[in-house]
Amino acid sequence: MAQFQTESATVESREAHPMIVARNVEKWYDNGFHVLKGVTLTVNRGEVVVIMGPSGSGKSTFIRTFNALEAYQKGAIAIDGIFLSHDLKNIEAIRREVGMVFQQFNLFPHLTVLQNVTLAPIWVRRWPKAKAQDVAMQLLDRVGILEQAHKFPGQLSGGQQQRVAIARSLAMQPKIMLFDEPTSALDPEMVREVLDVMRNLAGSGMTMVCVTHEVGFAREVADRVALMDAGMLVEENTPNEFFKAPQEGRTKQFLSQIL
Ligand code: ADP
Ligand code: MG
Repeated sequence: MAQFQTESATVESREAHPMIVARNVEKWYDNGFHVLKGVTLTVNRGEVVVIMGPSGSGKSTFIRTFNALEAYQKGAIAIDGIFLSHDLKNIEAIRREVGMVFQQFNLFPHLTVLQNVTLAPIWVRRWPKAKAQDVAMQLLDRVGILEQAHKFPGQLSGGQQQRVAIARSLAMQPKIMLFDEPTSALDPEMVREVLDVMRNLAGSGMTMVCVTHEVGFAREVADRVALMDAGMLVEENTPNEFFKAPQEGRTKQFLSQIL
């Protein structure tokens, strides 16, 4: 599998440059449920942050605020220096910078793999079809599914579909990639092929936030691991410290369930 090369892999970009700044983010759902209770997180360019935590703790809600898929009521979020406001202009600018991969791949079933990957570049970025197809084929090659380009998603395995979903996100040339439990819906034998693609992407210098309970991936790839519980970010540390010497009772309890 080819290595990813992105602009952000250059040496000068290694210095700290905040790509995601979330400060005291609070959110209540319409039914009054206080889902985010003041969450603060900074992710610098090229960093990989893994977020773990029990089901229902607000992980998906939190990362979905980064590309305005979820509104929030208090606090502030800036993406690569652009404040996320209700101004539609900023929301569009931020969505262009932030790619997202979900547990359910959400591919368009009636479009081929290639069409899935070229759709947004053609319609949103207004690229000529030939250019969009060129870039798409390169990305499909990098995620190891070039031969499947003309198939429909239903003809692919789950792991292949998830790799198409990653290629589709990358086709928009995002500066940040968000992954929300990207391997949770996969059969065990397909987890690795998706994690390998994510590992390559991290190696290329992509800024990534990954909600995942894949401990091996977190240990090897993450710069920091964070635990969310009951709408709060309880603890954040290097993988080594996080897994070996967790400070908070809730982290210890969570780790005892997954390790
Ligand atoms: P996680 O990703 O950590 O499992 P979520 O962010 O999906 O957690 O959800 C956190 C909590 O918010 C859950 O208890 C969930 O039931 C609740 N929730 C999610 N979406 C809504 C909604 N649209 N309205 C009300 N509550 C919601
Ligand atoms: Mg979730």
